[in-house]
Amino acid sequence: MAKKQEQFDRNNSWKPATSLVHGGTIRSEFGEMSEAMFLTSGYAYDTSEQAEARFKGDLEGFVYTRYSNPTVHMFEQRMCALEGAEAARGTASGMAAVTAAMLSHLKAGDHVVAGRVLFGSCLYIVENLLPKFGVESTLVDGRDLNAWEAAFRPNTKAVFFETPTNPTLELVDIEAVCKLARDRGALSFIDNVFATPMLQRPMALGADVVVYSATKHIDGQGRCLGGIVLGSSDYIEDTLHDFYKHTGPSMSPFNAWVMLKGLETLPVRVERSCASAARIADFLADHPKANRVFYPGRTDHPQHDLAKKQMSAGGPLVTFEIEGGKDAAFKFMNELEIFKITNNLGDAKSLVTHPATTTHQRLGEEGRAEIGITDGSLRLSIGLEDLGDLLEDIDRALSA
Ligand SMILES: *Cc1c(COP(=O)(O)O)cnc(C)c1O
Repeated sequence: MAKKQEQFDRNNSWKPATSLVHGGTIRSEFGEMSEAMFLTSGYAYDTSEQAEARFKGDLEGFVYTRYSNPTVHMFEQRMCALEGAEAARGTASGMAAVTAAMLSHLKAGDHVVAGRVLFGSCLYIVENLLPKFGVESTLVDGRDLNAWEAAFRPNTKAVFFETPTNPTLELVDIEAVCKLARDRGALSFIDNVFATPMLQRPMALGADVVVYSATKHIDGQGRCLGGIVLGSSDYIEDTLHDFYKHTGPSMSPFNAWVMLKGLETLPVRVERSCASAARIADFLADHPKANRVFYPGRTDHPQHDLAKKQMSAGGPLVTFEIEGGKDAAFKFMNELEIFKITNNLGDAKSLVTHPATTTHQRLGEEGRAEIGITDGSLRLSIGLEDLGDLLEDIDRALSA
């Protein structure tokens, strides 16, 4: 296959920060220091016998970039080292990862239990897409273990949730829900975007499959779309691989390279964002114009104990409710100078989102109320700017 996959294979005892710099590295015959970007769709074989052997699977090697490419492979291996997964497949986007992970596993007649607070497009997959293929679903309040347990049916084949949730930062007890699923023969699929792979390790808590939108903190600089599905080699090779190979939700080698280099700085970026987010959450909690603050790292978060159990920090996102509803929220956003108005998250730039009119518009007022989103809810994604500048920006915009 490749010239050499570095000590990674010999030494899997590295701590995350080391794996994220060296894990999965394949060096070509030129010994390049920075990982090479293999922008190629296909591969030449030395002989027809070699081509035959590669197709038969007798000889390891790259065959076609729709399902195997050295740069994408390096990204997958580095993520496996971080996540503690046996295997992975890079995808074109986070949604390609979610869709491929679920569709490759489920079939008509199956049933899925999912947390009701899901990223908008994930909700579409569970509520609208899966039923078209005969897969039924039940949405539950992810915080309520009894609700999870009651929702299982004999044909439940998967549970799917995100934690913390978007945008109200509610938590799901990963270990408990994964155990319920395992005891009932269902696979657990966790969308771990909001915690980032640095703060929360779903596999260590019993998750079968972890998916990411790499578009967010893994790139971390708002440049490329990407995603990844991680799991056991049984799941990845036997369940996902053929679906992935034949339907083509593949990751571009260019995007894989951007993500691979993004991983090198992920720990320092996430640490900085989380430290600033915690300070900003405290600042908002003391501010008269902020009615409520949602931040898992604060002791007033209703599930703070669970946050302490399964997350190593409060996360890079802060949600709060501004006094004065939509008008006040819009005015605040328009007054901000450093924070940019967007629906995205996980950028070096600090970002602000008004969920009610953008990401969660589709739910309608009632649907939003059910999951705690009001017209005054605002989600902040904390970037890498100077904390003092960010606090000043927020303070000024709140007082305007
Ligand atoms: C962004 C996001 C996705 C989708 O990822 P894309 O890369 O935009 O396709 C899925 N889940 C969560 C929680 C996200 O934040």
